Amino acid sequence: MAARDARALKQRLESLAAAGVTQLPKTSPGGRRRAAVPAGERPAQRAAVDTGGGTDRIRALKILNQQVADCTQCAELAATRTNTVFGVGPADARICFFGEAPGADEDASGEPFVGRAGQLLNKIIEACKLRREDVYILNVLKCRPPGNRPPLPGEVANCRRFFERQLEIIAPEYICCLGTSASHALLETVEPIGKLRKRWFAHGSAKVICTYHPSYLLRNPAAKRDVWDDMKIMMSDMGVVF
Ligand code: URA
Repeated sequence: MAARDARALKQRLESLAAAGVTQLPKTSPGGRRRAAVPAGERPAQRAAVDTGGGTDRIRALKILNQQVADCTQCAELAATRTNTVFGVGPADARICFFGEAPGADEDASGEPFVGRAGQLLNKIIEACKLRREDVYILNVLKCRPPGNRPPLPGEVANCRRFFERQLEIIAPEYICCLGTSASHALLETVEPIGKLRKRWFAHGSAKVICTYHPSYLLRNPAAKRDVWDDMKIMMSDMGVVF
């Protein structure tokens, strides 16, 4: 094993141990299954199936979810939230959609992207020949900012350890940043979203693409064409044929 691979393996084992994992399952010769095949050609209930390493990820996410639920670092958000909104999807998803912060519907339900923006995100996912249950959806902030104001820099800083760890556990191949807040938080840049689109970035081992937020599309339907262009770039890289 090359020294670099050994280092990566050591780091992975240390982070699993930190999450409370004491045993690793035997992996099948094929390794972890991370298909992103079009909807209709995939078995249902993938989230519930252990896909080799899935159990460890599910367990690590559960521990992290509890830490999020217990967090009171942002006093205003902790005092006004109904629920923390951790994320939803298979623990070994090939692609993560990364949004800004919960709104009123998400705060009430505890699930990201369930309101009007969420319905539009579902349509985008389906247009990509994927299914919502096959992708992982998370936000920068895990609590709703009052009045749906944009996240404050201090709030993003406080939540960074949660979304970074979440992405580390899932280790997706692709991350699609939805809008300015998500793109800026993940890439630690202040470049305008219009300049971040149509380019590939790296985050850990994931390829990152940025596009407009579904809420922006609700206000500016003409920008749907741009989002579709971005999705085509991503899906073509993923090997999905249109
Ligand atoms: N907007 C977001 O960025 N995230 C949600 O969960 C809902 C709306």
